[in-house]
Amino acid sequence: MTEFDYIVVGGGPGGCVSASRLSENPEVSVALFEAGPDRTGLLGDCAPIGTIALGPRKNANNWAFSSTPQPGLNGRRDFHPLGRGLGGGTAINTLIYMRGHRGDYDDWAALGNRGWSYSDVLPYFRKSENNQAHRDEYHGNDGPAWVEDLRTENPYHELFKQACAEAGERFNPDFNGAEQEGYNTSQVMMKEGERFGVNKAYIRPHLGKRSNLSVFTETECTRILFEGKRAIGVEFIANGNRRTVRCRREVIVACGGILSPKLLQLSGVGDGDDLQANGIPVLHHLPGVGGNLMDHLDFILAYHIPADPNLLGISPTSAVQLAKWVGRYRRERRGMLTSCFAEFNGFLRLSPESPRPEIQYEFVVAIALDHGRKLVAKHGISPHVLLLRPKSRGTVKLASADFSDAPLIDFRYYSHPDDLETHVAGVKRVANFFKTPTFRNRIKRDLITAHCRTDDDWADVIRSQVGTNYHPVGTCRMGNGTDAVVDSRLRVHGLERLRVIDSSIMPTIPGGNTMAPAIMIGEKGADMIKEDWRSAP
Ligand SMILES: Cc1cc2nc3c(=O)[nH]c(=O)nc-3n(C[C@H](O)[C@H](O)[C@H](O)COP(=O)(O)OP(=O)(O)OC[C@H]3O[C@@H](n4cnc5c(N)ncnc54)[C@H](O)[C@@H]3O)c2cc1C
Repeated sequence: MTEFDYIVVGGGPGGCVSASRLSENPEVSVALFEAGPDRTGLLGDCAPIGTIALGPRKNANNWAFSSTPQPGLNGRRDFHPLGRGLGGGTAINTLIYMRGHRGDYDDWAALGNRGWSYSDVLPYFRKSENNQAHRDEYHGNDGPAWVEDLRTENPYHELFKQACAEAGERFNPDFNGAEQEGYNTSQVMMKEGERFGVNKAYIRPHLGKRSNLSVFTETECTRILFEGKRAIGVEFIANGNRRTVRCRREVIVACGGILSPKLLQLSGVGDGDDLQANGIPVLHHLPGVGGNLMDHLDFILAYHIPADPNLLGISPTSAVQLAKWVGRYRRERRGMLTSCFAEFNGFLRLSPESPRPEIQYEFVVAIALDHGRKLVAKHGISPHVLLLRPKSRGTVKLASADFSDAPLIDFRYYSHPDDLETHVAGVKRVANFFKTPTFRNRIKRDLITAHCRTDDDWADVIRSQVGTNYHPVGTCRMGNGTDAVVDSRLRVHGLERLRVIDSSIMPTIPGGNTMAPAIMIGEKGADMIKEDWRSAP
C-alpha cells in the first residue's frame, strides 16, 4: 500500500458511496479508510439489536462523544452516539429513510450553491435508491440502497393513524414524494427485514471483485499530507503503527459532521488562532472549519400502556413474546425484530402560514429514554418531537493536537431564543395527539409531562430532558464567503486536490433525518469528481 488515485477517509454514507462510485472506473484505484470495524452477524443484520446493543454506550462501533456543557440544556452535557465502522452511522442507526423538504435544497442553491436545488439533487436520490414500494418520478428502483416499508405489521400503526387523524393531521402516502407534511409508517433502509447500511449496499458487493477498490478498516487517519497547498496523501494508524500513503489524484474527507472538521484542523486547516493555540502549524487559515454546527434536538414524551404485547418493554409479557419474535424473524424476517423503533413518522406545520413543517414526530413502540440508556420496566410508547430547522449554530474545535482526544463539541442548543419557543409549540401539539379518543383511555400514565400547565412548565421539562436526534451537520459548510469551507463542487477553498463529501458540507440542515441526504451527497460528489477529471487538461 503506497499509492492510490483516490484516498477516501471515512466509511459512512459519504465515504462508502463515493468510494464505490469512483471505483466503477477500473482504470483508477481507490482506497477507503475507516477507523472502525466492519460489523457482521446478528448485530449487523438485525435492526433493533444492532441499535440497542451499540447505540447507547461506547464500544468499537460507537465514538460515543459528549457535548460540552450546554447552557440551553441547564448545563447538561448531551451524550452523542456516532457510528464508527464500515457504514458509519448506518452501522448503528435506526435506518429511517427520509430526504427532507424540497425547499431545503432550493435554499442551498439560493445561498449560491449552483447545482444543489431540489431538481438538481433529485436524480441523485433516485440513482442511489432501490425503493420497493414507490415507483414514480420521485423514486429510483434499481440503485444500491434498498428502501422498503417496515415489516413489523404492528397494530399500533393503525392506532397512531387514527389518533393523528383525530388530531386533525393528514395522511401522507410518501414523505419523500410530492408533499412532506402528514403522517405514515416509516420507510427504512433495510433489505427484506435486515439492516442494509451503506457498507452492505455500496461496498460489500464489490469486495474481491473490483481489484481497484481497497478497503482498510480499523485504520484511522491522523493527518492529511500536503505539498504546498496540494493534498498528496494521508498519515494513518493501523495495528498501532503510524504510516503514510500517497494519492495521485485527490484526498476525499468523509468523516462526518463531527470528525471531518477535526481531521482538517489536525492537518493545519482551520481557524489560524485556534490551531496555533493547540500548537498546530497553520497550513491554511479557513475560519469556517468546525463552525455552523447544527443538529435536530429531540424531546421524548413517554406514556405507560400496561402489558401490551405489541410494545417492546421489560416485563413477563415480553419474555413470552421474545421467543415468538425470534421464531418469526428466523422464518420470515418479519415482526418485532425488524423494528426500527421509530415505526411511525410525521411532519407538521405550526401554523397554516408556515411554508414547510417546523416539526417532525417519530413514534417509538417502547419507552426508550436517554438514548435507550435508561431502561423503564414498563410497556409503553415514546413519541419523539424534533425541531427541524434550528436557528442556533455551534462549533467543533480541537481539545488538543492529539488525534486520539475527542473534539470539543459545543452545539449551543437553544442559544437562539426562537428555537425553544418553536420546540415548545411543537411538543404541545404532539402531546395532544395522545389526548384523542384513541389514546385517552389506553394510556395509564404520562411519565414526563403530566405536571405541565403553562408554557414555562413545558420549557423547563424540555430543557431538562431534550437531547440529540444524532444529526450533527454543517461544519464544513458549502458556499462562498469567509466562513465557507468547500465550494459547490465540494473542493476545499484555497487548497488543491482535497474535497469533503459527507453531511458536514450541508449549508443548512434538511428538515428530516440525514442519512439519505448524506448518501445523495456521496453520489453527487463522486459524479463531480468524475466530471472534473474527465475535463482536466
Ligand atoms: C444512533 C443513531 C441513529 C440514527 N438514526 C438515523 C435514522 O434513522 N435515519 C437517518 O436518516 N439518519 C439517522 N442517523 C444519522 C445518520 O446515520 C447520519 O446522518 C449519517 O450516517 C451521516 O453520514 P456521514 O457520511 O456524513 O458520516 P458518518 O456516518 O458519521 O460516517 C463517518 C465515518 O468516518 C469514520 N471516521 C471518522 N474519522 C475518521 C478518521 N480520522 N479515519 C478513518 N475513519 C474515520 C467514522 O468512524 C465513520 O464511520 C442516526 C445516527 C445515529 C448515530
